[in-house]
Amino acid sequence: MKTIGLIGGMSWESTLEYYRIINEVINKKLGGYHSAQIMMYSFDFSEIAELPDKGHWDEVAKLIIGAARKLEKAGADVLLICTNTMHKVAEDVQKNIRIPLLHIADATAEQIKAKNITKTGLLGTRFTMEDDFYKERLAEKHGLETIVPDERERQIINNVIYNELCRGQIRQSSKEDFRKIMQNLNENGAEGIILGCTEICLLVNQSDAEIPIFDTTTIHAASAAMFALNQ
Ligand code: GLU
Repeated sequence: MKTIGLIGGMSWESTLEYYRIINEVINKKLGGYHSAQIMMYSFDFSEIAELPDKGHWDEVAKLIIGAARKLEKAGADVLLICTNTMHKVAEDVQKNIRIPLLHIADATAEQIKAKNITKTGLLGTRFTMEDDFYKERLAEKHGLETIVPDERERQIINNVIYNELCRGQIRQSSKEDFRKIMQNLNENGAEGIILGCTEICLLVNQSDAEIPIFDTTTIHAASAAMFALNQ
């Protein structure tokens, strides 16, 4: 079995899910006492959380490349950045290491294509919804069309992610907001919804939407487990 390197702590609330899901998938496949071989570099989120707001992506890249190199040196066979937003610097990270980085958007795109869906609604931080890095990867590499909520809704989502979910707060009122936003995306032509932030799965799940939901946390974590098993 290969060793999975996790770059986590962004936030730790979602990294916990990665740890659980990867171990569950491995145990389901191998049975008995089997669990995953995992190494983790977990950031103090306050060190990195506000850099995107200031536009300091070069700093973000530097920190994540540093973590990636430590995990590579320690013997990880594959790396995951456990956040969608920080994938803005993923290509830079990959260029600085020799082991593969499993890109969260690629893993998600494979699941979307398997369901023959071509147009999805994307929920995430304002960086993920508004910048090009995520939508362009889905379009150019996978031929998938992505739509995002309107400006007011994007603000609600971004606030809920940083002010509630990344701080361990789950509120019913926010769940209702997300349900309505997903419904609006559906009415605007989305055939599926990407939970494009690794904390959103803590708030909503498939029972909150009428169209298929693609939870990037579960998909990304499961893809790492399968990679570790060579499957
Ligand atoms: N975990 C989040 C994501 O998947 C947001 C936190 C962050 O990395 O800024 O985008």
